[in-house]
Amino acid sequence: MDIHEYQAKEILRGFGVPVPRGGLAYSPEQAGYRARALGGAAWVVKAQIHSGGRGEAGGVKLCRSEEEVRDFAATLFGKRLVTKQTGAAGKEVYRVWVEAASDIAQELYLGFVLDRKSERIMIVASAHGGMEIEDLAESDPDSLCRMVIDPATGLCEFQARELAFALGLRGGLVAQMVSTLRACYRAYRELDAMMVEINPLVVTHAGEIVALDAKMSFDTNALFRRPQIAELRDASQEDPRESMAADHGLAYVGLDGDIGCIINGAGLAMATMDMIQLAGGAPANFLDIGGGASPERVTQAFRTVLADRNVSVVLVNIFAGINRCDWVAEGVVQAYRELGLTLPVVVRLSGTNVEEGRRILRESGLPLITADTLAEAAERAVAARPKLAA
Ligand code: ADP
Ligand code: MG
Repeated sequence: MDIHEYQAKEILRGFGVPVPRGGLAYSPEQAGYRARALGGAAWVVKAQIHSGGRGEAGGVKLCRSEEEVRDFAATLFGKRLVTKQTGAAGKEVYRVWVEAASDIAQELYLGFVLDRKSERIMIVASAHGGMEIEDLAESDPDSLCRMVIDPATGLCEFQARELAFALGLRGGLVAQMVSTLRACYRAYRELDAMMVEINPLVVTHAGEIVALDAKMSFDTNALFRRPQIAELRDASQEDPRESMAADHGLAYVGLDGDIGCIINGAGLAMATMDMIQLAGGAPANFLDIGGGASPERVTQAFRTVLADRNVSVVLVNIFAGINRCDWVAEGVVQAYRELGLTLPVVVRLSGTNVEEGRRILRESGLPLITADTLAEAAERAVAARPKLAA
């Protein structure tokens, strides 16, 4: 789960990361008021959306008067900002962050990510920040420093110093960098983050380290024990299809094809995606109903999958271990009737109570297409798609 820049800054400030003073605004007037309350002569006004690349997309501006702050904020509210990361649909701006402008001498890059290979947190840093890490990795790969942290010791002082030196920092900046690095590491660990990125982390002319941007994303599977983080969710920034599924405790991934998929388990979902592609089709999405799905849950799954207008066929593929094929079958029949389905539905059931499940489907009298194997199910789903008008 992603959060906004201003939320990440507030969290990181709590752990001891220096961030600029700022205030949130929901209207141009409030943005102007924020600038006045902050004082000073220059402010940076920043669109709050779940995306980087806002600067390039016109979502960040240095303003030199309260009027300029207000006017720029007015152009942002309600706008869909399209950045390199949002896709063509962009993301709508409802909140604007106004902060004191920093006098930048140098921009650094700092990121904390989970390195799956070593199964540890890895710090990635560069003395050349400001641009996106992907571009940096391409244009200046030698500038990247990487450091893997042993969870038993955490980020040690000497390691943090080593990294600060590798970035070319000297004198009083080293101690500031050490404390910033350790603060980020603690925030990452203690809040079940998946990523902490500060780009840019700047050195000011006055010799201070400040985080001018901040991005954090969190492990959704850990949100149950991080209620203060779960609260920061902003559904307006998510794919509406995915929010709807999350609200019902279903795991959903939106894709670009036209076959809607209801599956149990991520592994089976991956295999099903592959089989659909192999059969010449393309999945519109997949929804993982998990274990022990009741008929009601299956009906809700249909609702969610059908909320995607691109869906022209639904494929239900269940390998029941904890699940029961008879419940799933009842759910399919119930969904078909309740939702008045007219599009083709392909069902493949296997595992616990499969005979009972198949009997329910057969005796329902509904025009369901059944299949015994995964390959068959994928082929039938692809074949069942309405033919495009020539
Ligand atoms: P994004 O990464 O989405 O483009 P950033 O927060 O990194 O947004 O802002 C883009 C650029 O704007 C930064 O690289 C920095 O040069 C400048 N900037 C951002 N905040 C400030 C600030 N408080 N003072 C001065 N410059 C800033
Ligand atoms: Mg940035």
